[in-house]
Amino acid sequence: MDETFDFVVVGSGGGSMCAGLVMRQAGKSVLILEKTDLIGGSTAKAGGVMWIPANRFMKEAGVADSVEQGERYLDAVVAAREGDAPGTSRERRRTYITEANAMLEFLIRQGVPFERAPHWPDYYDDRDGGTLGRTVHAKLFDVNELGAWKAKLRPNAFQMPVPIYNAMILPLINRSWKAKWTAAKMVLKGLTAKLTGKHWVTAGAALQGRMLQAALKAGVELRTGIAVKEVVIEDGACTGVVVEKDGLRMRIGARLGVLLNAGGFAHNQDMRNKYIPGTRSEWSIAAEGDTGDMHREMMRIGAQMGQMEEMVGNQNMMPPGDGGPAGAQMQLCKPHAFLVDQSGQRYMNEGGSYMLFCQNMLERHRTVPALPSWMIMDSQFIRTYMLAATLPGANKPADWLSSGFLRKGDTIEDLAMACGIQPAALKDTTERFNRFARQGKDEDFGRGDRAYDRFLGDYTHGPNATLGTVEQGPFYAVAINPGDVGTFGGVVTDSAARVLREDGAVIRGLYATGTTTAAVMGRTYPGAGCSIGPSFTWGFVAAKHAAGLGNQSI
Ligand SMILES: Cc1cc2nc3c(=O)[nH]c(=O)nc-3n(C[C@H](O)[C@H](O)[C@H](O)COP(=O)(O)OP(=O)(O)OC[C@H]3O[C@@H](n4cnc5c(N)ncnc54)[C@H](O)[C@@H]3O)c2cc1C
Repeated sequence: MDETFDFVVVGSGGGSMCAGLVMRQAGKSVLILEKTDLIGGSTAKAGGVMWIPANRFMKEAGVADSVEQGERYLDAVVAAREGDAPGTSRERRRTYITEANAMLEFLIRQGVPFERAPHWPDYYDDRDGGTLGRTVHAKLFDVNELGAWKAKLRPNAFQMPVPIYNAMILPLINRSWKAKWTAAKMVLKGLTAKLTGKHWVTAGAALQGRMLQAALKAGVELRTGIAVKEVVIEDGACTGVVVEKDGLRMRIGARLGVLLNAGGFAHNQDMRNKYIPGTRSEWSIAAEGDTGDMHREMMRIGAQMGQMEEMVGNQNMMPPGDGGPAGAQMQLCKPHAFLVDQSGQRYMNEGGSYMLFCQNMLERHRTVPALPSWMIMDSQFIRTYMLAATLPGANKPADWLSSGFLRKGDTIEDLAMACGIQPAALKDTTERFNRFARQGKDEDFGRGDRAYDRFLGDYTHGPNATLGTVEQGPFYAVAINPGDVGTFGGVVTDSAARVLREDGAVIRGLYATGTTTAAVMGRTYPGAGCSIGPSFTWGFVAAKHAAGLGNQSI
């Protein structure tokens, strides 16, 4: 080995710095290797929220929840497909809930402040054990506190000095005084920051910024621009990694183990074609380093892989220009909009989990062309709600119509023709949807029955916050794709986050977390924060195991 540390982490994802803090607490040396020039991965780009049942903030607020209730909920949502989802098991789910809480307490003791998003419902809140308020996030962070390291933190798109949860009301700016008040507070905080020399970041950048600050303070070593190419296996155990920088290769030893936290394969189109056909890398908003390096390396060494067909889908639209995909989840759940396939039929509840939404799209496409599907809206929608980051109102960018991104018709039949849909079919679907909207009950798909659907809707609208008629021309449509925020399958790990071989045996010294692994949530997404929560938690578990801390509280 050219150099040796106690613990080496591949990738600066969610679990990386958490594991690093555990190692430093145990007095061990730790090195995090990141192949891009920026620290934080998709985690820093993200909303940065973590789903943790029975968390301390719920207790403080007097909200009833328990580890057992969380388990019941995961059983109700995840376990149905446990047989073909090797990343999940009752033991792994129980360990997740227990250790996620231990991890949260540990980080708070390390000086990383968190708070709760009080009303965020579980995505299947109507199932046994479901509730709301299990989602926690880091408090806003003044990134200037990082000094020279500020330039190394991956930025995110949420450039607003307000927690992401509070910002979710902003699309209702035309409707709600609460939204206007939130916008005013944001402007004020932004101005005060300018005067006081602060630079607030929120969401994933606040989380990873605070983690970076804590990691540096604790003496975790971080190096960027270094890609790990291989893991070193000697006598059946992992003893280090082979890295490459500027064309030069070197070996770095790891006395206690190696943790893989290198993300998924969202930006590897060949792997997508093989495992998630029909989906495109350009529809993904994962960070660019998400190229499946460690997935391929794990296959090379004979590790067990699972759930490779899964992604955390994120329905989106592609406006013209270089801005990339624009989210569609919040829009499609607002009143006066619904989704149809290319035959003009609705085929799902437009609310609910984004992962399920995109699974539904891919499933539908097996029998009826549904890639893309069409979001159908009327003038009430356009007047009232935001679309692809534009303010409410018909004044949209000039190239939206000319490029064909936004389709328009004076009647619903005209709109159908503009989208290549049978006019009579779209008219029938619209009339049926309008009947449901008037009565406030979606008889076909139950949109709006769950608290989560209504949460995504417009609370000022009745009788159902997510159902409104599509009846005032002109009518509009945009194409919807099954995009994603990352993939959700990979190497199979046990309840100590150890990588397993194809025969189920443990590979000593090799741990994995995050989207490098087959998710503990199986083929489902139970609530907000079900990727970052597990990434942090399994990083925490891995480091405790490698440092020999067992169940000791730290
Ligand atoms: C806009 C957006 C919002 C989201 N919001 C949320 C949310 O609020 N909550 C939630 O749970 N999930 C959210 N997600 C999904 C979530 O962010 C990701 O699934 C999660 O962050 C993945 O984390 P990770 O720890 O697996 O890896 P990442 O955070 O992606 O980090 C992996 C790192 O490894 C590096 N790497 C890759 N290969 C190598 C190599 N060979 N050598 C060295 N380094 C390597 C990568 O460059 C990257 O920096 C969101 C995603 C996006 C894009």
